[in-house]
Amino acid sequence: MNRTVLVINSGSSSMKFSLVQPDSGVEIADGLVERIGERESIAKVQFGDRTVDRECAVADHDAALRLTFELFDEAGGNLETVGLVAVGHRLVHGGRDLYRPTVIDDAVVAKARELAPLAPLHNPPAVIGVEVARRMLPDLPHIAVFDTAFFHDLPAAAATYAMDRELAEQWRIRRYGFHGTSHQYVSEQAAEFLDRPLDQLNQIVLHLGNGASASAIAGGRPVDTSMGLTPMEGLVMGTRSGDVDPGIVFYLARTAKMAVEDIEAMLNRRSGVFGLGGDNDFRELHRLIEGGSEPEAGHARLAYDVYIHRLRKYIGAYLAVLGDTHVITFTAGVGENDAKVRRDALTGLAPLGVEIDEHLNESPSRGARVISADNSPTTVLVIPTDEELAIARACVAVLG
Ligand code: ADP
Repeated sequence: MNRTVLVINSGSSSMKFSLVQPDSGVEIADGLVERIGERESIAKVQFGDRTVDRECAVADHDAALRLTFELFDEAGGNLETVGLVAVGHRLVHGGRDLYRPTVIDDAVVAKARELAPLAPLHNPPAVIGVEVARRMLPDLPHIAVFDTAFFHDLPAAAATYAMDRELAEQWRIRRYGFHGTSHQYVSEQAAEFLDRPLDQLNQIVLHLGNGASASAIAGGRPVDTSMGLTPMEGLVMGTRSGDVDPGIVFYLARTAKMAVEDIEAMLNRRSGVFGLGGDNDFRELHRLIEGGSEPEAGHARLAYDVYIHRLRKYIGAYLAVLGDTHVITFTAGVGENDAKVRRDALTGLAPLGVEIDEHLNESPSRGARVISADNSPTTVLVIPTDEELAIARACVAVLG
């Protein structure tokens, strides 16, 4: 029988799940419960060609996972017979000590809970997801796969903040990097797609989803990435600011008398393209720019321009970090779907060896594809990310 891994990704008000067969790469079912804890939650499960959904109150993550299993049953699935061998959990922050995919026991749960201050939006709900799933499926191994893992061995020059060394050591302050599962998966897929050895490729991966990060990868090993101690640093994101002058935090605390928690919430949830342009969905942002009335259209335009400007700065930086860049790959929701973002990110870079083909870039194709011009020294790709499959593969690798 095919081995199947249940992959769980818990957010504060959402829970995503996916049943993946790592050997074939097939995802046999996926589901999502959103707005957990609100009056009207939305749950949806897809299995084969059947989709079942429900709108009802889902009080907590416990109820969400239970409901997901119910809907999977309703869609004709049977958890007992799919060949479940493990449950894989996406954990965002592993801190200094947790980075390899790790079989979860009480000590790992306690450690992940301790790391909450480093990823306050991500780690606590993920830990809740782990606890709920361990209670519900006690006989299966549960395995944590960390977003920080791929970047664990970043060169010291890229991982270190230029600040008081002893203080940084005491509080484990370094650049950890995130979306590592995606950066690793996509860079490996790029090598496979181009039929070239991974260890001979210098790559830039642009993971542009709601969260967004860039990485520079030399011969399969990351040499820089845009996210840091937390997933707030770097590119402009859906609702996160990315790079800001740290002086802004002190200024708001001192002068606007804002509490640290309020500043953090503002930079995490009310910044980025949403904070500037009123929406974090790029489809809506384009609609506003093209057809909105003023001042909304202008706000959306500025948000877009700031987003593109930052993205181009990181691409330029990583071209310099790598020296000779063979591949640039776009991935995740925006990177895979938004041809305009891809074009605006790379326009005018021919003198740096990067030239996209307008026609290929506009192609509605969904799979892995080349979008650079034939004569472009750097190949530009679009590759769909699949963090669930990567997590499932990491799980079976741990099991041996
Ligand atoms: P995450 O996993 O970080 O939640 P995704 O990688 O799923 O995010 O990306 C979600 C984002 O992708 C949306 O907020 C939206 O901005 C963008 N997106 C999705 N589909 C499209 C599309 N067809 N065109 C442009 N942007 C899109």
